[in-house]
Amino acid sequence: MEQYADIIINISHEAVDRVFQYRIPEKLQQAVQIGTPVKVPFGNGNRFQRGYVVGISQTPNFDVAKIKDIDSVEEKRITMESQLIQLAGWIKKQYGSTMIQALKTVLPVKDKIEQREQRTLQLLLTKEEGETLLLEYEKKHYKAKERLLLGLLKQPMMPYEVALKKLNVTSSVIKSLEKEQVLCVRTKQVHRNPVAYSVLEKETFTPIMLREEQQRIVDAFSKEYEEGIRKTYLIHGVTGSGKTEVYMELIAKVLEKGKQAIVLIPEISLTYQTVRRFVERFGGQVTILNSRMSKGERYDQFMRAKNGEISIVIGPRSALFMPFQKLGLIVIDEEHEMSYKSESVPKYHARETAIERARMANASVVLGSATPSLESYTKAMLGEFTLFTMKQRAKKQAVLPKVQVVDLRQELAKGNRSMFSGTLQSLMAERLQKGEQIMLFLNRRGYSNFISCRKCGYVAMCPHCDVSLTHHRGGSLRCHYCGYERPVPKICPSCQSKYIAGFGTGTQKVEEAVKKMFPMSRVLRMDTDTTKGKEGFDRILATFSKGEADVLIGTQMIVKGHDFPKVTLVGILAADLSLHSSDFRAGERAFQLLTQASGRAGRGELLGDVVIQTYNPEHYSIVTASKQDYEAFYQQEIVYRRLMKYPPVYQMLTIFITSKEQDLAIQASVALKDALVSFNHQREEIKEAGELLFIGPSEASFGKIQDLYRRVLYVKHLDYEMLVKSKDFLEGYIEYSVIFKEVQVQFDFNAMIVY
Ligand code: ADP
Ligand code: ZN
Ligand code: ZN
Repeated sequence: MEQYADIIINISHEAVDRVFQYRIPEKLQQAVQIGTPVKVPFGNGNRFQRGYVVGISQTPNFDVAKIKDIDSVEEKRITMESQLIQLAGWIKKQYGSTMIQALKTVLPVKDKIEQREQRTLQLLLTKEEGETLLLEYEKKHYKAKERLLLGLLKQPMMPYEVALKKLNVTSSVIKSLEKEQVLCVRTKQVHRNPVAYSVLEKETFTPIMLREEQQRIVDAFSKEYEEGIRKTYLIHGVTGSGKTEVYMELIAKVLEKGKQAIVLIPEISLTYQTVRRFVERFGGQVTILNSRMSKGERYDQFMRAKNGEISIVIGPRSALFMPFQKLGLIVIDEEHEMSYKSESVPKYHARETAIERARMANASVVLGSATPSLESYTKAMLGEFTLFTMKQRAKKQAVLPKVQVVDLRQELAKGNRSMFSGTLQSLMAERLQKGEQIMLFLNRRGYSNFISCRKCGYVAMCPHCDVSLTHHRGGSLRCHYCGYERPVPKICPSCQSKYIAGFGTGTQKVEEAVKKMFPMSRVLRMDTDTTKGKEGFDRILATFSKGEADVLIGTQMIVKGHDFPKVTLVGILAADLSLHSSDFRAGERAFQLLTQASGRAGRGELLGDVVIQTYNPEHYSIVTASKQDYEAFYQQEIVYRRLMKYPPVYQMLTIFITSKEQDLAIQASVALKDALVSFNHQREEIKEAGELLFIGPSEASFGKIQDLYRRVLYVKHLDYEMLVKSKDFLEGYIEYSVIFKEVQVQFDFNAMIVY
């Protein structure tokens, strides 16, 4: 059978839109696969070019007579480019996307406009020749030429800009000296370096003695690395146990072998503090990626990696696709973080994708967390990952904080209606008096300020979305999903009573309450309002870090890996809000948030206290978090997952259906389920592997957003492959069924969010 290959000539983000089809000669059919480098005749002159195969099919896209043959398969050696293309192929299959979408995810975006050049003047004369000429210029009163030559005699390689600005010569002067062959202008493409801390070069690095718990990990890893063993390790280490120090040792080990390393860190924890530690240790070999960088700046980092100018990249999810030729290690810090799952197609998970990339490149993966995901811990229990545990904090004086759980129902019974329990109030007073710092943590979810009627229970809702409107200062009500805005009603639109008012406690209200109770305290608030602008986030953290504020109030944002040695009290104002959601990961999230938030206290020499306020003091997430007992939490949580057949025990495919017409959305969701059920009955292999399990279809957790009706169907099976097959089948089905013209369907494997 004839086979055709889709080939891209230039390996870049833009090139994937220009795919060329070639015939695969019979003798090459075995060798040609996705990612294979091939030699092809290209253009009118049929000059040979290197291309990469990104797709294989049996159907020609145009006149068969005009399709050229692939000449040959380029070397056997697998290049980094082939690997990234293969990885795209894996992502396409594993998460369901088109090959183009997958390729665009793994290939860097080029940005031509921002390409920069650096011009340097180079003196072509010897010192003597130069000095003779200088005298000549002096005699002839060529002032500008004299200045430039004198400058070059002092500094024979001089940036063009310096000559213009410091020596105050014009470009025509430079040109005439160039003509006289006194100097030449060299042009170099430069790739910007976002790490501006070059002052902190390697010299300032003083090695620390690793603790036994840390050293054990380094030794075990090093031994296996030497033996050529490549695998995935999970470091379960309490907050402050020194995981980052361990990562750096492991990276040093891999670098010694001439290899390179990728370090993934959630964007929110990618602070100056963290980056500085890596730069202190590894100097100019380190670069970063983040979403605040321009496309051009990001592209430059990919080029620097490709050219071998750097060996370590620190960044969020997308740093996983750094084109390192000799990748040796991928570290994923805070591996439990939700942000490692992409929310746009392809909805890949960076942890799984990292493991696949490492497999292709013969590299190892190190995952680290104080609260590992159920997925990773289960793999560690099954022996698929190697588990390391660190139970103590690294700094001698730093011990884990004392945690108290306060029952908010009893506070209410005692007549305390404020948002601070008696315990928290007195601890706050004491810390403020001592001049120590406090962090107050608020779970944003469900804590938005909505308006409701105390008489009839009316809640002001968005007419386009199934969500309550948020009360903003200045008296407007706003929808966070579509931007709809209206004034706050003075009387209840439903029962006409005047008892309509704002409820719930946002960060602003906490701030007001703290200031009222402790008028002398200096309070900082960190939420999406105060962190707008490029540096808002870093600025607030820096102010707090310098001790210029006593209290820091915030949402999830403040719980992530910052190290403030003077924080001795952490208050979690209401630990329940994350428990009562329809998300099967709610218990896991609550445990993570509480543990991470508690971990902020007592990181320095001072002892720490944590107060967890809750209406459910007996919930296992709260009980185990207050004891910082991950294993106990894991044991209970995994029982629940097994019982309910949820991930990671079962695999889950989320099918998300939206339409402008409510009826169509309902019909479509039912049709998809029916189609799958009958597919299920026809296929022998599925019969053997066990039936698919369904939840729904039903209305999504927000039934309508921006006038689109939303429904959701969950499909579960022990075997991931079965879900991939189900999805492939449904995609075919959707193409041939008319009702899907006005309906959109999205697939998500083991989704991290609740639809
Ligand atoms: P984690 O990443 O587990 O939260 P870090 O690596 O940030 O922990 O370490 C917490 C603090 O302890 C940091 O200030 C770090 O410099 C310090 N630290 C880590 N290991 C050691 C050690 N072996 N000796 C002394 N201090 C250490
Ligand atoms: Zn009312
Ligand atoms: Zn809305």
